[in-house]
Amino acid sequence: MVPLVRRMSNIHTRRKNPFLSICNGYANESSPSRLASPPPIQVGFTESAGRGVFANRRIGAGELIHTAKPIVSHPSLSSLHSACYFCLKKLQFKNQTEASNVPFCSYECREQSKIFYETEKQADWSAFHEYCRTQGLKYPLLVKRLACMIISGASTPETFDILQPATLSSRMILLMEKEYQLLRSTFEDAGFTDEQIAFLTKQWYIDVLARIRINSFRIELALGSYEDILLSAAASVDAEAAVGNAIYMLPSFYNHDCDPNVHILWIESVNAKLKALRDIEAGEELRICYIDASMDHDARQAILSEGFGFHCKCARSSRRTMLI
Ligand SMILES: [Zn+2]
Ligand SMILES: [Zn+2]
Repeated sequence: MVPLVRRMSNIHTRRKNPFLSICNGYANESSPSRLASPPPIQVGFTESAGRGVFANRRIGAGELIHTAKPIVSHPSLSSLHSACYFCLKKLQFKNQTEASNVPFCSYECREQSKIFYETEKQADWSAFHEYCRTQGLKYPLLVKRLACMIISGASTPETFDILQPATLSSRMILLMEKEYQLLRSTFEDAGFTDEQIAFLTKQWYIDVLARIRINSFRIELALGSYEDILLSAAASVDAEAAVGNAIYMLPSFYNHDCDPNVHILWIESVNAKLKALRDIEAGEELRICYIDASMDHDARQAILSEGFGFHCKCARSSRRTMLI
């Protein structure tokens, strides 16, 4: 995600969207293709915020703009036995034995997960998971899954290169040393060859983490049916329902606004839906809110600055600034 600060200067000069055809990692398809017609959007360039997503026709309030499957996702460690290891759907088990054996919600998810799970299950992840758990780390889990996909040939080390990286402080980089070493030694101890994990250098790890840091979505499954949620102004999200984290391609191109016109939501799985919160005119930029929009101005600015590295100058934030 790239911070939005100013309107783009001339929407007519933007190029035909080169990004919509990018395949998503898990599904090898761009999710919008599942809809009857192409999504009414294109990726363009803003004057000062890098890429942005724009409406290429009028979009009505409540309209489902497009869906998106993740490139990489991972359940939170607290959800390992209650969420599908592939799609994060809530798991229903008949008994305890089933719960400890079956991390997938369906045959389809089990099949699709082979791109990382066949590799992953060859290694013992207990020390790596334990470190993440005690340190409260969630992003290394996404790197672990990406690394497994790369080893199995389902992804490449360059997968995240198109995403904007965060600026990391030397302290942050120092803290990554241990998790990187643990990731690498987990593969080494499992007998993976130097050739298989040649991509897994410290620099690669840092570069990937820098991108995950500002492009990761925290997955909170919304309550209620899909129809209920599309009808409501904003989905009701259970704060306790954070089941994991995921990286998407297209949703990462949406800029931030504290008064967004698009809402990203998850109904029952990691597959995201982007819905118009109000009528949007052709050419208008589509923006989502990266944070809890109900926070006050100072809290929003503090989190955006710390978490995403920018000072928000959206219309809502600017109005507040002018009042001072
Ligand atoms: Zn599933
Ligand atoms: Zn703002």
